[in-house]
Amino acid sequence: MRLAGKRAVVTAAAAGIGRAIAERFVAEGATVHAVDRNADELVTLAGVTGHIADLTASDAATMLAEATGRADILVNCAGIVYPGTLLDCTEDQWATSLDLNATAMFRLIKAYLPTMVERRAGSIVNVSSVASSIIGVRNRFAYGASKAAVIGLTKSVAVDFVADGVRCNAICPGTVDSPSLRVRMQAQAEAAGESFEATHAAFSGRQPLGRLGQPNEIAALALYLASDESAFTTGTTAVIDGGWTVE
Ligand code: NAD
Repeated sequence: MRLAGKRAVVTAAAAGIGRAIAERFVAEGATVHAVDRNADELVTLAGVTGHIADLTASDAATMLAEATGRADILVNCAGIVYPGTLLDCTEDQWATSLDLNATAMFRLIKAYLPTMVERRAGSIVNVSSVASSIIGVRNRFAYGASKAAVIGLTKSVAVDFVADGVRCNAICPGTVDSPSLRVRMQAQAEAAGESFEATHAAFSGRQPLGRLGQPNEIAALALYLASDESAFTTGTTAVIDGGWTVE
C-alpha cells in the first residue's frame, strides 16, 4: 500500500482524472476526502468521504479545510475549458477560467499549507496541462493562460516551502478521455458539421502515440508524486501527453 496512513484531499473527484486519482489513492490505502460540486456523481464514488463544494466560492477552501482536518496530500484537479481565441473570450469566461483553474488552487493551498509546514510534510499535486506555458493550443486562450498560471504557482510554492518539507508538483496532461472532453468533442463535431468519430480521431491524432490518454494513466503519475517515492521531486512540470510535445 503506497499511501498507507496518508490523508488526501482530491478535487474534481466525481469524474474523469480526479475520480481516477481518488479511486487509486483509496486502493493504495489513503484516507481520501473527495471534493466536487456534482453531488449525484460524487455519491457513486466508493471508499471516500465526499464533500460537495463549488470551488469558485471564496470561502470554499477554508470551509473544506475545517471539515477535513489536515491533509498530507492535496490534489488540485478542478478545471474548466472555454474553447476559443482571445477574440471569442468574454470577460466572464476569462474571469471564471482564472477563478477555478488558478484562484481556487491558491485558496486551497493556502488553507492546507500551514498544517503541512507545521508537520514538515506534505505533497501538493496541481493538474495543469500541456496547453499552458508549455505549448500554445489553438482555441484554448483562457484555458492556456490559466494553466500557465498553475505552473508558475506550482514552482513558486515549491521553492518557497522546499525547506519546510513540503513538495509541490504539476501534472501536464495531453488529451485525456474524460466526460468533459467527450462533451467538447461532440460540440466541436456539431459546429464543424462532421461526425463524432472524425472529431475523436482528430483529438487522438494530436498525440503521436495515436490515442487519447486514460484517466488511470494520469492517476498513476499522481500516485507517484503524492507518495514518498517521489521525495526527491519538487517544482516539476510532469508532462504526460502521448508524445504531443516531443517535436
Ligand atoms: P472533467 O472536466 O470531465 O470533470 C471535472 C470534474 O470537476 C467534474 O466532476 C465537475 O463536476 C468538477 N467541477 C467542475 N467545476 C467545479 C467547481 N467549480 N467546483 C467543484 N467541482 C467542479 O475532468 P477532466 O477532463 O478529467 O479534467 C480534470 C483536470 O484535468 C482539469 O483541471 C483539466 O483542465 C485537466 N486536464 C484535462 C485534460 C483532458 O484532456 N481531459 C487535459 C489536460 C488537463
